Amino acid sequence: MSSSSMLFRGGRGIRLLAFQYFPTLTTASASSSIRIVSFSSYPYPTSYKIFSSNHCTFQNIFTLSLTSPSGCGVVGCSKMASAAGGEDGHFKLSETSELIIKKGDITRWFVDGASDAIVNPANQRMLGGGGADGAIHRAAGAELREACYKVPEVQPGVRCPTGEARITLGFKLPASRVIHTVGPIYDTDKDPKASLSSAYKNSLTVAKENNIKYIAFPSISCGVYGYPFEEAATVAISTVKEYANDIKEVHFVLFADDIYNIWLNKAKELLQA
Ligand code: ADP
Repeated sequence: MSSSSMLFRGGRGIRLLAFQYFPTLTTASASSSIRIVSFSSYPYPTSYKIFSSNHCTFQNIFTLSLTSPSGCGVVGCSKMASAAGGEDGHFKLSETSELIIKKGDITRWFVDGASDAIVNPANQRMLGGGGADGAIHRAAGAELREACYKVPEVQPGVRCPTGEARITLGFKLPASRVIHTVGPIYDTDKDPKASLSSAYKNSLTVAKENNIKYIAFPSISCGVYGYPFEEAATVAISTVKEYANDIKEVHFVLFADDIYNIWLNKAKELLQA
């Protein structure tokens, strides 16, 4: 299966130019059928996200930028392996909700560019950082930092306290939104299990409040925040099982092989019993 995303921008008349480019994309993506699923006017005069009708995996991501109202051109075209070549794990969370565990880069993940969101393991300032946070900000562009900056501080230097969640647009990311949450620092948090569970729960709550149907989590707190992987997997999967209800698909997009294997085994233990 394959799916395609094409992002392109421009000013007046761009819609015609967009359709002019369909044959290019159709040729490149072979069997995919292309459709526009979202349109926004920010941050560029026009911005389209175009996806194939088959949205199950995030293979074959194409980027096409129209750089000015008068000129246009293909600036990038890249092909990406599905889930870094590994098998995705599929598990039933409820009658209406599925858990999918895959390897990959969360900045490349999307389902439809309209009702999908990735979760950013942010810090309390919410202005970017290292690890997945840094990668998400780089991929989303400077507009994401500007949007985060506008999130009101609840105390000096704190836009999102540990365990809470905030939402912004995804800007240049293929996913439509970013849900920013702050996981616990394992060694200093008073109750890291409760804080980590809150980060997952509040991310799902914010997702539901914003009609998000597809959400992708990284392994929150498993990087510089030092949460032991096995314990983190237990908290992550059991919390998602409890609170996913109205979300159609919850994905874990995991960068590291060891974390992916631990998550997969934990899901088998907790969800296939
Ligand atoms: P935290 O501060 O919550 O520990 P980190 O970003 O340091 O957050 O790490 C969280 C997890 O995200 C780590 O397991 C790390 O391997 C993983 N990670 C880093 N970059 C990416 C990425 N682009 N996609 C998915 N996971 C990532």
